[in-house]
Amino acid sequence: MWEENVRRVVPYVAGEQPKDKNVIKLNTNECPYPPAPGVEQAAKEMDIDSLRLYPDTESTALTEALASYYGVDSDQVFVGVGSDDVLSMCFLTFFDGKEPVLFPDITYSFYDVWAKLYRIPFRTVPLKEDWTLDVEGFKAPNGGIIFPNPNAPTAVYEDLSVVEEILQANPESAVIVDEAYIDFGGQSALPLLKKYSNLLVVQTFSKSRSMAGLRIGFCIGSKEMIKCLNDVKFSVNSYTMNMPSQTLGVIAVKDDAYFRETTGKIIRTRERVKEELAAIGFTFTDSKTNFLFASHRSVPAKEIFTYLRERNIYVRFWDKPRISNRLRITIGTDEQMNTLIETLKGMPGIC
Ligand code: PMP
Repeated sequence: MWEENVRRVVPYVAGEQPKDKNVIKLNTNECPYPPAPGVEQAAKEMDIDSLRLYPDTESTALTEALASYYGVDSDQVFVGVGSDDVLSMCFLTFFDGKEPVLFPDITYSFYDVWAKLYRIPFRTVPLKEDWTLDVEGFKAPNGGIIFPNPNAPTAVYEDLSVVEEILQANPESAVIVDEAYIDFGGQSALPLLKKYSNLLVVQTFSKSRSMAGLRIGFCIGSKEMIKCLNDVKFSVNSYTMNMPSQTLGVIAVKDDAYFRETTGKIIRTRERVKEELAAIGFTFTDSKTNFLFASHRSVPAKEIFTYLRERNIYVRFWDKPRISNRLRITIGTDEQMNTLIETLKGMPGIC
């Protein structure tokens, strides 16, 4: 009866990756612009013979590039296969207590999957009516805390004073801030590392560095926390990051001008699209991310989702409590967003 011994889990469902190249893909928060120009060049010149060899288990060059970019020591940096890998390692490493781990009720839907997979007790803290974090809720006894800032899919950014209030109330807990979307207008919690050795900041190359396909994520924290993470990682799989990701990741980190240009473009497009969608009856949170969390005053989100999909425009919709009348719309190029807006204007009931 092998079935009785199976570790059962309801998996996370990732956004769809359509085969059809004509789809306007605004459903998985990727960046619509290519990676830094040096990445293409380096990919063409890559030493294919070196693929015979195992990659550097410590991703030394990438770790050092990140440490130098963010002004920390390299033993304060841990890299992984996308921030999903880093976050999953964080759950496994830091959340092994008896008290429940706390995270918001509406948040990245992978958190409860990892908690269940690793059998970690957890409790969700409901967001307030305006979708902000209920800080008081994070002052209860706990076995660790995790939340994204900005939050996803709500797109709501919390001021650093809020992050600090949670840290101050929880000196005994690992506090993990998932900053997947921080580069689109928010302020990172990284400066708080000087004051709080129980803080870990997780970021990704998938959004602001246009490299979702290479799967590069990282976190920065005290060297004690990073050591704990490495001990667990080296107990699961030594060779997580492949060599091309390590090499190309370094080039992306070093091109700060391109990074600023790309994130700046997304922010400008986002602010324009906010105005245009508002003019046709949409409301949304004040996004500081590369997506909007939008709702229409008269047409249900599910109908808009289907209407757009039939016209080859993919956005994200969840039939879940509290968010079932919301669409998560990734910010694409100006041209893609113009097509989205024109298509929406053509939908009965929108204007
Ligand atoms: N955190 C949040 C809040 C996200 O939305 C995502 C993207 N799905 C991730 C982490 C993981 O991104 P990646 O694994 O591509 O770095």
